[in-house]
Amino acid sequence: NGAALDGSAAAGYLESVPASIWDRRRDGSYLTELLLGKGYEVHGLIRRSSNFNTTRLDHLYIDPHNVGKAQMKLHYADLSDASSLRRWIDVLLPDEVYNLAAQSHVAVSFEVPDYTADVVATGALRLLEAVRSHLASNPGRSIRYYQAGSSEMFGSTPPPQSESTPFHPRSPYAAAKCAAHWYTVNYREAYGLFACNGILFNHESPRRGENFVTRKITRAVGRICVGLQSKLFLGNLSASRDWGFAGDYVEAMWLMLQQEKPDDFVVATEESHTVEEFLEAAFGYVGLNWRDHVVIDERYFRPAEVDNLKGDSAKARRVLGWKPRVGFPELVRMMVDRDLELAKREKVL
Ligand code: GDP
Repeated sequence: NGAALDGSAAAGYLESVPASIWDRRRDGSYLTELLLGKGYEVHGLIRRSSNFNTTRLDHLYIDPHNVGKAQMKLHYADLSDASSLRRWIDVLLPDEVYNLAAQSHVAVSFEVPDYTADVVATGALRLLEAVRSHLASNPGRSIRYYQAGSSEMFGSTPPPQSESTPFHPRSPYAAAKCAAHWYTVNYREAYGLFACNGILFNHESPRRGENFVTRKITRAVGRICVGLQSKLFLGNLSASRDWGFAGDYVEAMWLMLQQEKPDDFVVATEESHTVEEFLEAAFGYVGLNWRDHVVIDERYFRPAEVDNLKGDSAKARRVLGWKPRVGFPELVRMMVDRDLELAKREKVL
């Protein structure tokens, strides 16, 4: 079963591994690295996909340096299948469950709102219920639950946004994340479950899905540099986001589950930049002018936009002792460097 090896704690996290259009933050790979480093046994639940894509995880379960230690194992499950969730919790007996699964693309959620609600909102409820019912029939067991919330829940509420800021979601994705947030609070209050909401502001990395704006830009910069493309089609350049590094943010997730009491935390850099500023930084880093390459395309505008996100993460800094290590310019450079490498490789192929 999933019980501890070497006396270490067993953990499970959930993140559907996607067909390529279902882009996501790839937090699961960063969290897995963190947990393996701490001696956890990690089980990832992935959904069946016609395009089996575990590239971000491959290094974790084939890394020869991990031989002899607890390593990651992958299992099929689905947030739309309650029985699969309960079964894996019964079999793996995790001490910690991280729910990172989502249809996480805001614009796509307007195209598939019902599916988004099913996975993001009802999926979280199914998982909470699987944890609750498992604990009810297994007295003496304990499971700590992490729910991946999103700054998108704040939507049109003006910044700075903290734990006490009212939500005003602006997309089916954001509305579904609000429901999942409140299910988590409710299971904590109703059943005494150790359940935490992490309200994470945008967090990026070289592993970010290619249709999120940061990665779309850095990937284009790489490909423009090596001559694989010349234009980049974008939507609204004036939106502001509080962009941090995913590798820093997974540490906050873990810290939340190590506290004495479950609670909700905003995780943010407390610095906001427009999409245009991201363009300046990314193109500027390689000596290009973004204005020579960017073309505005109406199709990338959203039916309702979130204009300005900037977090107030004072509580996480005070209670968890967390703070981001990677700043905005460093994040941009890290992503451009990686995408330049990938573009060079693509050019050779
Ligand atoms: P989000 O904050 O979770 O929606 O993250 P995204 O990276 O998808 O979008 C961040 C901001 O960039 C939003 O305000 C978008 O409207 C804006 N944006 C402008 N052009 C684009 C684009 O071509 N793709 C995406 N994904 N976002 C864009």
